[in-house]
Order: sequence, then structure tokens, then C-alpha cells
Amino acid sequence: MDRYQLRRDRLRKLLGKAKVDSLLVTNFTNVTYLTGFTGDDSYLLISPGQEVILSDPRYTTQLAEECPGIELAIRDTGKSMLDTIDAVLSRRKPAPLGIEAQSIVVALRDRIAAALPKVELAATDGLVERLRLIKDKDEVDVIRRAARVAERAFEALRASIRPELTEKQVADDLEHQMRKLGAKCSSFPPIVAVGPRAALPHARPTSSRLSESPLLLVDWGADVGGYKSDLTRVLTTGKISPKLERVYRVVLMAQEQGIAAVRPGVTAHEVDAAARSVIEKGGYGKYFGHGLGHGIGLDIHEAPRLGVNQSLVLEAGMVVTIEPGVYLPEIGGVRIEDDVLVTKTGHELLTSAAKQWEETLVAW
Ligand code: ZN
Ligand code: ZN
Repeated sequence: MDRYQLRRDRLRKLLGKAKVDSLLVTNFTNVTYLTGFTGDDSYLLISPGQEVILSDPRYTTQLAEECPGIELAIRDTGKSMLDTIDAVLSRRKPAPLGIEAQSIVVALRDRIAAALPKVELAATDGLVERLRLIKDKDEVDVIRRAARVAERAFEALRASIRPELTEKQVADDLEHQMRKLGAKCSSFPPIVAVGPRAALPHARPTSSRLSESPLLLVDWGADVGGYKSDLTRVLTTGKISPKLERVYRVVLMAQEQGIAAVRPGVTAHEVDAAARSVIEKGGYGKYFGHGLGHGIGLDIHEAPRLGVNQSLVLEAGMVVTIEPGVYLPEIGGVRIEDDVLVTKTGHELLTSAAKQWEETLVAW
């Protein structure tokens, strides 16, 4: 059976548990996951015996190519999406209509409520996201390719690194390399941070030159076929203070412990704790201010979250990042990030870029 049909059938089973028989999918990534359609501005309505994509004339050809066999409701030029929703919904018998609480905008919800006063709207939370948690073999293969492309681009960066390059140039080169190697684009704008700027977990690349500090943090990833990889590495281009070297070793040990803890049956907070305790014992607990990692897939940040209060239990097929970090204000920061697949018996690392302390050194 078609993989998308399989996913929609699985979703139908969840709808019953959520006490709705229909769902208006407004999160475009969820629409992609359920239909294969890669455009946006389109919704999917799933109801008993009916599956309809609501879209507009710009996408008629793309929809026919990407998701043949699924019913389309293309709104006429000049008509609003609401008219189309109205036309489709009025064909069904009255029953609660599920809406995606995390994505529907209030204006659309209000307009549906006004246009269809007999329809009871029921907020649902994370139904499609629950399915997206577990990747099938094809999805894992694509994430693997996204990881490989990112790592090959990083090898090219290591080989071409020069003191006069700016953070911005390095970020641009990395993106360009990934595209040349087959990525659709970057998973997200790469973070390239020199010296003290590496202490900012979300540093935006600036005109600072690599020569300004021997410490360089790069956080990057590739989007291949819609699926994202996400890595962070620290490079050194000269002598690093003993303090930062120690931070590096602590973060690396924490990351290795975090990865070792990944297996089915363990909770997200237990994995977080495996890494966090190493950083706390090292004396840097208060400088690790974010969760240990997050799921990756069609979105760069998706479920599950690995963090202090996360009770979700890991299952085979989940793909998560493990990315502890220590950020010392004004001095610098270290984060090391890999992508890890939960397997039936434990885990498999999907990324393999060098990360031992001795391997961080690059010669200009
Ligand atoms: Zn990252
Ligand atoms: Zn990440």
C-alpha cells in the first residue's frame, strides 16, 4: 500500500481515541507527511470515507504529480480558502471536527465556526506528530543521506579554512557545499561562531574573522528530500586555554554518556540526566541551560524533546539529536551534536564527523 495512505489510515485510528471522526490538518508539514505534497498553503481534510486536499490553482499541477489518487478541492480564483472548506465540510454529516490546536490560526478557526455554526470544533493536540515520532526505514535512509551530505560539506570546510574568512563566509560556503552535494538546502541557517560568540547558543554569523580566536563552533545540517540532519562541531585553529580544553572534554564525555543512554524503554529525561550529570559533576551545570536534544525529521525541531521534565519513553524508530553544551559568557562555548537512531536493541549513530579533542585542531 502507498506509504501515505498507510499513514492516513494510522491517523484515522488515532482520531477515534481523540473523539473526533474528522480532522482538518492545517500544519503544512503534517500535510506533507500524510500526502507527499511538498507545497504549502494547503490543508488536508480527513473524514470517514473521505480525504481531500484543499488548495489553490497555483498547485494544481504539483498536486497531480506528487499525490495522484487523492481528491482535490482547488479553490476558484477569487474565492477564499474558507469557501472551499465550507463546500467540502457541508457534504459531511454533523460530527465534531478536529482542528490542530498547535497550528490553526484563530482567524481561521473563528471563520469556520461562523460559516458552519452546526459544526462543533474540537481542539486536538499532536495527533500527526505522534505518528511522525517513529520513522520508517525510508525516512531513516533519507536522514542518513542528509547526515552524509552535511558531513561531506564539513570536510570540505575543514580543508579550506583560512584565517581571513568571516563567520558569514564560512556559513555561506557550507550552505553552498551542501547544495552542490545534493541537499535541497540547509536544514536551518548555519551557526558559525568564533571565540566568545560561541557562548551564544543561537549566534548569527557576523563579519568576525576566524583569526580573532582559536575556537570555532559550527552548528549546521542538510535538508535532503525534506528531511533534516543537525550537527555541531567545535574546531580549534591554535592554542586553546586549559579552561576551554577542559570544558570541551567534559562536554564530549557528557555527549558520549548521553548517546550511550539511548535505547528503547528509557525516558527522555533519563537520557538528558545521563549527560547532564557529567556536566554537573564537572562543575558546569549552570552553564548548560537547554535540553539535551530534540527529534529531527521533516522539521528540524520535532518530538521527542530530551530534557529535564520530559517523560516520553523512547521507542525504536525515533531519531534524536544529542547536543550538550557549556556556555561561558564572554569566554566561549562548546556544544557537540550528533544524530542518533533508536533501534530495537539500543541505538545507532547516524553521524560520524571526528570529535575527539585532538581531532578538533585544523591547520591554516
Ligand atoms: Zn544543531
Ligand atoms: Zn539541534
